[in-house]
Amino acid sequence: MDQPAASTEPIIRVEGVEKWYGKFKVLTGIDLQVAAGERIVICGPSGSGKSTLIRCLNALEAVQKGRIVVDGMELTGNRKNIDKVRAEVGMVFQQFNLFPHLTILQNCTLAPMRTRGVSKEEAEATAMKYLTRVRIPEQASKYPAQLSGGQQQRVAIARALCMTPRIMLFDEPTSALDPEMVKEVLDTMIGLAEEGMTMLCVTHEMGFARQVADRVIFMADGAIVEQAPPQEFFTAPKHEKTRQFLGQIL
Ligand code: ADP
Ligand code: MG
Repeated sequence: MDQPAASTEPIIRVEGVEKWYGKFKVLTGIDLQVAAGERIVICGPSGSGKSTLIRCLNALEAVQKGRIVVDGMELTGNRKNIDKVRAEVGMVFQQFNLFPHLTILQNCTLAPMRTRGVSKEEAEATAMKYLTRVRIPEQASKYPAQLSGGQQQRVAIARALCMTPRIMLFDEPTSALDPEMVKEVLDTMIGLAEEGMTMLCVTHEMGFARQVADRVIFMADGAIVEQAPPQEFFTAPKHEKTRQFLGQIL
């Protein structure tokens, strides 16, 4: 993997990050730089700290040691920056996390209207644009429970895009879906990747990793054990833990 040129500031910089849950050290010293436009897949065994790491990038979790800089903003401990970063970093969860009492359209317009002061008209126009892009504009007036899992996850992606994020984080976005719905969500993510979105995706969809990732990161026991472009990662994993993991999932 070519390193970004020295003059290009990475859009995400993680340095020496350590995090504890009580006495349990969940992140044991993470260093990571992500270039703008880069597409990263993070994989690894359950409990290895993948969700914790990407939640830290959005300040959904605080870290006890090290620093995180997102798009030039220091996250560690600065409340004002945290709000700004959250507005720039979209997040899609395994369990969709749509607001059940709001329509699809309202799910998409709420944050832009509340946090950006966008007018209702403008927010709705933007929402329809992104709902069209994820190919479900006709569902706008329905409620989440009326949609399939795949449709709900596409709404979650559209909702995140309505904030015009510079970075999108995905935490196992297809793990809760019935198999026949996985493809429609992955296709949406592939579309985003093709448009140049900076993406970090925790996923075990290795076909997706092969197709779109610039770099695959393997985590175990709270650390980045190995990282490589997909071709190299899948054909010549260096670490025994990586080989074991790939043996289990491929
Ligand atoms: P992954 O996403 O790789 O499965 P997580 O980041 O969710 O891993 O969790 C890493 C470890 O931290 C696991 O052992 C998990 O049980 C623990 N953990 C996660 N969240 C919490 C929490 N809020 N409090 C205590 N322990 C947690
Ligand atoms: Mg997880």
